[in-house]
Order: sequence, then C-alpha cells, then structure tokens
Amino acid sequence: MVVTIDGPAGSGKSTIARLLAQRLGFAFLDTGAMYRAVTLAALRRGWTEAEAAALAELVPHLHIAFDGQRTWLNGEDVSQAIRRPEVTAAVHLAADNPHVRQRLVELQRQHAQGKDLVTEGRDQGTVVFPDAECKFFLTASRQERARRRWDELRRRGAAVTLEEVLAEQDARDQRDASRAIGALRKAADAIEICTDGLSPEDVVARLEAIVRQRQAAATAAI
Ligand code: C5P
Repeated sequence: MVVTIDGPAGSGKSTIARLLAQRLGFAFLDTGAMYRAVTLAALRRGWTEAEAAALAELVPHLHIAFDGQRTWLNGEDVSQAIRRPEVTAAVHLAADNPHVRQRLVELQRQHAQGKDLVTEGRDQGTVVFPDAECKFFLTASRQERARRRWDELRRRGAAVTLEEVLAEQDARDQRDASRAIGALRKAADAIEICTDGLSPEDVVARLEAIVRQRQAAATAAI
C-alpha cells in the first residue's frame, strides 16, 4: 500500500508522514530530502543559477539513499547539511529541472517496490504515485506555516525574523505552484486536511484511522 502526503512547506507533512509511517509499520520516504541532496551536491561544486542546467548530468553520478531517518549522498550522511538555509534557498535549482525530476521520480518509485510506504512531497499523489491507495493533501494558513518554520529554525540556533521566513515561504509557494512539471497540486482523489490548531498527534490519528479503514475495505474486497 502506498500512502501519499503532499502539501506546501510548513504544512506539517514531514512530521506527520514520519509518525504515520511509524504507527502503521510502513517505510517512510521524504522526497524533499532528495531534491535537497542534489542541491547540496551542486552547491559543493560551487554551482549557481548559471550552471543549473548541467544538474541533470550530475545526477547520474550521485548515489542518494534514504533509510527512513537519514539521507545519504555518495555514502555520506548529509541529513543535517541538507537542512541548511543556503540549501533551502537554492533547492529550486534541482526542483525546477525536468531531468532531475525525472530521475528522482524513478528513484522514488524504485523505493516503493515491494513495501508499504508513506511518502511525502509535492507531487507524490499526482505524478509519482497516481494510483496510490490513499492520498492526503495537508494545508495550513500562511502565518501558521511560517511560525512553525520560524520556531524550528530558532530551535536550531538560526538568527532569522518571522518576516524573513514569511518572505522565503511566499517565494517557495510561488515556485512550487508554478513549476512546469511536478507543481504542487491536490490530486482529485486526495483528502484535504487543514492542520491549523491541530497537534501532530491529532492529525496522525485522523490519517491513521482513514488508512486503516481503506486497508480493511481492501482486505474485505479480496
Ligand atoms: O519538503 P522540503 O521543504 O524538504 O522540500 C524541499 C524543496 O524540494 C521544496 O521547496 C520543493 O520545491 C521541492 N520538492 C519538490 N517535489 C517534491 C518534494 C520537494 O519539488 N516531491
């Protein structure tokens, strides 16, 4: 069974998807981490906007692995490095590149083979797993999403203002919505849940109940 969770930055996807996978005993895939790993590799080579087109040639030389917790780039644990602000600021270089997307979509589908999976991103229910048995689309208000990200950044010791976080979030929302391939969009058969004012536990409980209902219905139909 594949469970997809899509939504904008700060909607709570990562936390919810990880917890849901644990509760269900499913594998977990964070696809944003893959785009971040490609971006990190490009930044380490000193690449900027001008060289972004060449990213597609770089990707076949990268071995990106995700073990449900940590992200590995050519054997190195880059879980912390890919969360740095400079990676977040440049991640559109990878996410806007159709060749990079094609390659990462292949890897994501390979990752799902032979297992039950909870996967989160922007295009999981629309492009990568259009036949997924259970799809969710998480949202939250612009202010609440920015506040969550701001809290997280401050916990990690970053000196940023809420206004800066909002501006960066608006720019990412705009890019996510207008991307030619893999744009953030709710799949027609996805269940939309607004997480404003809800704790992660509340949201996970709601999602878990829906997944278990679908599992029971699928078993009964056999
Ligand atoms: O979710 P996260 O913020 O880690 O994702 C990093 C970036 O990767 C996002 O800004 C988004 O533009 C991009 N992304 C994507 N498709 C996905 C997952 C993430 O384009 N499936």
